[in-house]
Amino acid sequence: MTSWSESEVTVVGGGMAGSEAAWQLAERGLRVALIEQKPVEMSPAHQTPLCGELVCSNSLRSDDVATPAGLLKHELRAAGSMVIACADQHRVPAGAALAVDRFGFGRAITARLALHPNIRLERRRLDELPAGPTILATGPLTGGPLGEVIRRELGGDRMYFYDAIAPIVSADSIDMDHAFKSSRWGKESPALGDAAPASDGEAGEAGDGAALAAPEGDYINCTLSKDQYVAFVEAVNAGRTVMPHEFEEPRYFESCLPIEVMAERGRDVLRFGPMRPVGLTDPKTGRWPYAVVQLRPENRYLTAYNLVGFQTRLAYPEQQRIFAMIPALANAEWLRFGSIHRNTYVDAPRLLGPAFELKSRPALRFAGLLTGVEGYIESTAMGLLSAWMLAAELRGAPLPVPPPTTMFGGLYHHVTAPRGPKDRYAPTNVNFGLLPPVDMPPGQKKFDKAVKKQRLVERALADQRAWVDAVCPAA
Ligand SMILES: Cc1cc2nc3c(=O)[nH]c(=O)nc-3n(C[C@H](O)[C@H](O)[C@H](O)COP(=O)(O)OP(=O)(O)OC[C@H]3O[C@@H](n4cnc5c(N)ncnc54)[C@H](O)[C@@H]3O)c2cc1C
Repeated sequence: MTSWSESEVTVVGGGMAGSEAAWQLAERGLRVALIEQKPVEMSPAHQTPLCGELVCSNSLRSDDVATPAGLLKHELRAAGSMVIACADQHRVPAGAALAVDRFGFGRAITARLALHPNIRLERRRLDELPAGPTILATGPLTGGPLGEVIRRELGGDRMYFYDAIAPIVSADSIDMDHAFKSSRWGKESPALGDAAPASDGEAGEAGDGAALAAPEGDYINCTLSKDQYVAFVEAVNAGRTVMPHEFEEPRYFESCLPIEVMAERGRDVLRFGPMRPVGLTDPKTGRWPYAVVQLRPENRYLTAYNLVGFQTRLAYPEQQRIFAMIPALANAEWLRFGSIHRNTYVDAPRLLGPAFELKSRPALRFAGLLTGVEGYIESTAMGLLSAWMLAAELRGAPLPVPPPTTMFGGLYHHVTAPRGPKDRYAPTNVNFGLLPPVDMPPGQKKFDKAVKKQRLVERALADQRAWVDAVCPAA
């Protein structure tokens, strides 16, 4: 790796990740060719020639450090993110959120890149992979000839075009009076990745390889009586869903249907699908419940669980309202809601090495949403990290990975942690479930939510500061 010439790095895509990556490489003294296809070629979602274009909302989400998105932004600032600096400069009033004037923001990013002495901004569509060190940051709508080339390079079926994300709930907010732990038929499984029968309809649900060590018996089964189930199905049927974008065809795999599509097909379809109770004996009654919602560990710390087979297009407030009808989740703290949308990403945990390099072609790096993160700021963070790692390697001193206690580290772990053989990789955005738990104050049985968050945040900021000081004292 260190034998590469340091002459020039190619960054493909001037979106959130590519803009940040190009800037970080250039600031480290590397010469960068940043290749952006706009305005020659526009994706169905991009509308301006600007780099750093926000394709939808103009909000980079909360700036409150006590929230996952706020914490990541603080970490990005501490690392000297150019994208976040431009966002701060073009902030518009939006309460606790960091929302921006999208044109001012995009213009500022474009100007910084275009004027940087180490960056050459080339406006053309790239159709082939360059031979030298390259960071690919072509985003969720990567397609055309380059998409084909990448697919081939990945070895066929390792690039995904839709994600189906199941909601995630904080473990300590599950009411175990209405739930019990058990595997179906009491069977133990060596790895969660092997535990998913196709008929569970959970292909594509969020699976974090970090949970591989948990036995299947660690599923939590939330029970519903007949009345509760019927009311739940009616609420799902009446719930408001998010409309697909024009360029998204709502085509679903039968094994991965959204719950609202199943509910629409008939009252009992969910009860014979992801909510089926067979083989799950409730120790309180000695019988199978009428219906269950199964929760599966989302991380190795067992602090977060995902709702098995609950991919959905229900709007977020609707998910909050309707899922509260599941008695064990009446007061659930949601770490992430479910979604299904067009999203091109690669099977990063299997194909990429520790510096986001394609194992079969290490000069090729990935960044941004392509790596399996969701969101503007997450993509930016992956652009920054990918660039820092590449720059460090080119200088002959690989970068220590970010601490797992930070949001940088949590995202890094999500992208790189090994998965079970049948565990389909699904993207994530930042949430507190990515971080290891903090110790409970001595003598307490239940953690106060606010105190828990405060401790997670303080630890993350301190650890990230120490890491940045160690790997990049100038930031
Ligand atoms: C329709 C839609 C709406 C979204 N809304 C939000 C939202 O509201 N909030 C949020 O946080 N996230 C949202 N996302 C998800 C995600 O955060 C953004 O897509 C984010 O911009 C991803 O960053 P990126 O750098 O990976 O890709 P992008 O920002 O999309 O950047 C990719 C760049 O690569 C260029 N490119 C592509 N192919 C080539 C090629 N062959 N040659 C040269 N250049 C090329 C593109 O023109 C583009 O500029 C949305 C995604 C989509 C698809």
